[in-house]
Amino acid sequence: KTLETSNAELIAYRKQHLGKSLSLQYKVPIKMVRGAGQYVIDQFGRKYLDTVNNVAHVGHENYKVVKAGQEQMALINTNSRYLHDNINALAEELLETLPPELSVLHFVNSGSEANELAIRMVKAATGQRDIIASEVGYHGNSNMCIDISSYKFDGKGGSGAPEHTHIFPLPDAFRGKYTGEHTGELYAEEVQKQIDSIHKKGRGVGAFIIEPIISCGGQVELPEGFLAKAYEKVRAAGGLCISDEVQTGCGRMGKTFWGFQLHDVTPDIVTIGKPLGNGHPLAAVVCTRDVADKFANGMEYFNTFGGNPVSCAIGAEVIRTVKREKLQENALNVGEFLKAELHNLSQEFPIIGDVRGQGLFLGIELVDADKNPLAAQTDYIADRMKDHGILMSTDGPDHNVLKIKPPIVFTKANAEELLLYLRKVLAEDFMKL
Ligand code: PMP
Repeated sequence: KTLETSNAELIAYRKQHLGKSLSLQYKVPIKMVRGAGQYVIDQFGRKYLDTVNNVAHVGHENYKVVKAGQEQMALINTNSRYLHDNINALAEELLETLPPELSVLHFVNSGSEANELAIRMVKAATGQRDIIASEVGYHGNSNMCIDISSYKFDGKGGSGAPEHTHIFPLPDAFRGKYTGEHTGELYAEEVQKQIDSIHKKGRGVGAFIIEPIISCGGQVELPEGFLAKAYEKVRAAGGLCISDEVQTGCGRMGKTFWGFQLHDVTPDIVTIGKPLGNGHPLAAVVCTRDVADKFANGMEYFNTFGGNPVSCAIGAEVIRTVKREKLQENALNVGEFLKAELHNLSQEFPIIGDVRGQGLFLGIELVDADKNPLAAQTDYIADRMKDHGILMSTDGPDHNVLKIKPPIVFTKANAEELLLYLRKVLAEDFMKL
């Protein structure tokens, strides 16, 4: 029946019975029925190269990951109040990749839950609830996460920053408030301004939360020196530092396993999501012993599904696969090749104003000669790439950034294919859109 159900029927049913705020990708939506590595396959057997899905981290339906989940599911799945080897195994795999200061884990089921728990930890550890976050940051879909996500509350349907959220300008060195020299320091000064404003209200700083590369903001790399300076200022004010690694973690950055390591800082709390379960709902919060001890104030933290044996079997196999198959190295090599070639492409096509990112987490920003964003053209390119069997996504506050964040099994040949069609589409006549 499913194979016979036409897409039009599926769309009509969704319209009737699924929430209207759930969106669909592409003007003509696709029905995907299989995944295989860096490819997804639709109901007609058409294969698409996936440059978007950073959840299918070690490849769609990775054989070993699927098998680990299936085998554990057939044995037992229950909550983490019983002893089980898998939860310890996943903890060990993760801790091996982290600095020794970050030594305590809590497992949850989504990136939103991870950030939600991180903010609860901040409140318990500091007694403060004021949070500093970046403009156009996104940290999740729960009440608290929306409250710290300028991407949402400053966008359609939002009503601005809540009283305890303090937003500093997007630290974008290409088209942001500060460009050119000393941007790291200048943006760190903007964080200081928020600290001062919290103090003026007679309150203290709870935490500073940011992604190491701001994804929804348009793959914005933090300017050199910014994060270390911002951490220094936040800590001087008694606040904690959270690195949201929901998109950037688990080897995608290439040079480092975690994004914060690119900036030589050690956060107090790290939140991990998307890639950890390779599509299975699994996420985690890692924190320092001090934060964990303060959070354990007598109230039990119970999470029905978090850290269950099936999720942990999957998570441990994901991390083992990254290590065994040297996928961090692959992200570095393929990512650097692709980034260099995209730079070359920008010489040919001046609408490519900026190419940025690390490893297999890149962004291409499309602008006119005066650096005005070209949203319609960006959308056109993503749509045309689909016609050539390549999935790409767009983002950024002005919807003019093409994001590249494929499964990190993405090969140099995949990168070449992407470049081939990108060059073809960029040569089309779409400027008048
Ligand atoms: N943080 C970041 C940086 C994210 O990109 C997302 C999801 N896009 C989340 C948190 C929330 O994760 P989830 O959708 O798994 O709840």
